[in-house]
Amino acid sequence: MGWVTEWAPTKVELDACIDCGLCLPVCPTFQLTGDEAASPRGRLTAMRAVDEGIMVVDERFGEIMDFCLQCRACEVVCPSMVPFGRAMEGAKAEVVAQLPDARRAFKRSVFGRALRVRGLVTMASWMAAGAQRTGIAPRLPGLLGRIAGLRPIPIPVPSTRGRTWDPDGIPKGTIALFSGCVMDPWFSEVHVAVIQLLRTAGFRVVAPEKQTCCGALAAHEGAAYDAADMVERNVQAFEGFDTVVVDAAGCSAHLKAHAGGDGASLAARVVDATELVASLIAEGSLPTIDVDRGPVAIQDPCHLRHAQRIVDEPRAILRAAGYQPVEIDTHGMCCGAAGAYQLSHPETSDELGRRKADQVRTTGAKIVASANPGCEMQLRTHLDATVRVAHPVELYWEAVSEARVIAGN
Ligand code: SF4
Ligand code: SF4
Repeated sequence: MGWVTEWAPTKVELDACIDCGLCLPVCPTFQLTGDEAASPRGRLTAMRAVDEGIMVVDERFGEIMDFCLQCRACEVVCPSMVPFGRAMEGAKAEVVAQLPDARRAFKRSVFGRALRVRGLVTMASWMAAGAQRTGIAPRLPGLLGRIAGLRPIPIPVPSTRGRTWDPDGIPKGTIALFSGCVMDPWFSEVHVAVIQLLRTAGFRVVAPEKQTCCGALAAHEGAAYDAADMVERNVQAFEGFDTVVVDAAGCSAHLKAHAGGDGASLAARVVDATELVASLIAEGSLPTIDVDRGPVAIQDPCHLRHAQRIVDEPRAILRAAGYQPVEIDTHGMCCGAAGAYQLSHPETSDELGRRKADQVRTTGAKIVASANPGCEMQLRTHLDATVRVAHPVELYWEAVSEARVIAGN
C-alpha cells in the first residue's frame, strides 16, 4: 500500500533530493555499514519509490526507516535543503499506521501514551532505580534489563509541575518552565539550575500543572497522532506565557518544529535553556566567573546542533563558568542515544556510544557537557565514573553558587 496518512512525506520534500551524496560522510548509519539503504539518500529513494507506487510500506521499508537515528546530521550539509527530519517523521508515521492492529496499538501505548502518565513514569523510575541499587538490573529480561542497565537512574524527586519560584526582589518578568517527562524524575538537578539562574536574573518561574510530555519520542517512533495531541495539550498549558524555557534539547527542538501556527504560537515562544542562559550572560543579567576550572569536553546533542543549529551557546555558558570547552568532533556525530534507538537497536547504539566515549576520553577532560537527557544517559553508560556528565547550565549554576558563597551572599 502507498501512503495512508496526512503525515506522509510529500513529493516536494522528496523531489528536493538531487542524489548528490554529500550527506553520506556525516551519516552515522552509513558510516557504520557502507550500505546505501542505510544512508539519507537511500532512505529518500525508498520513500520516493513508495510515493511513485513502485514500493509498498512493508517490513523492509519499516526496517530501512527504523535504522535511521533521526539525528538530522544530513540536513545540515544538504545543498538542496531537503527537510529530512520532517520526511522521516512522516515515513515513520506511515510505518506505524500500516502495522497490524496489535503492533500498532503496542507502539502507540508505549510511545504515545505511557510517557504522558506522570505516575507511570515515576513508578518506572523507582523500579529502575531500585533494580540498579539491589543489583538485579543485569538479570532483568529484554527491554527492562536494557533500561535498568543504563546508569545511573536517580531516586525520583517530586515533580516541578504546578509550582512557582519567585526571585528575591520584584520580578522583572515571568518565564514558564517545561517540566518534561523524564527530566523531572531523572534530571532534577538541571531543572534546579535553570530555575535558580532565572531567579538570580530577576524572573519568576512557573511550571504549569497541565503540561505534558512534548511528544518528541512519540513522533520519532511514528505515533504521530499521539505526538500531535501532546503538542496541542502543551499549547493550551502554556497559553499566556511569553517565554517557555526547555532544558532538554530533544524537547525544545520538537516544540519549536511542531507547535507552530501564527505569531503567538508556542513554537515562537519556546527557547532552549542554553539559548536563554547564554543571552542573559551576554546582556549582563547573569555573571561571568573569573576562575580557571579546566577543560570540559563538549558533546553536541543532535537536536541542539543539527535540528536547532545551536552551537555557540553551550560553549559561551561554559566559558562564563570558567571552563575551557574542548571539541570532540567536527560534525557532531550522533552518540547513538536517539530516543528509543538505545532500546530498539542496541548494537548500533552501543557502537556509536563507545565511539563517542572514546572521543571524550581522548581529550583527557574529566567532565563532559551535554544538553540532552538521552545523550547524558548514553555517555554515562559508556564512560566510567571518573568522567562526570552534566548539562552546561548545571555546571554554570554550580560556578555561580560557588562564587556567591566566596563573595558571602
Ligand atoms: S538522520 Fe542521521 S542516521 Fe538518519 S539518514 Fe540522516 S544522518 Fe543518517
Ligand atoms: S545531500 Fe541532500 S540532496 Fe544530496 S543526496 Fe543527501 S539528501 Fe539528497
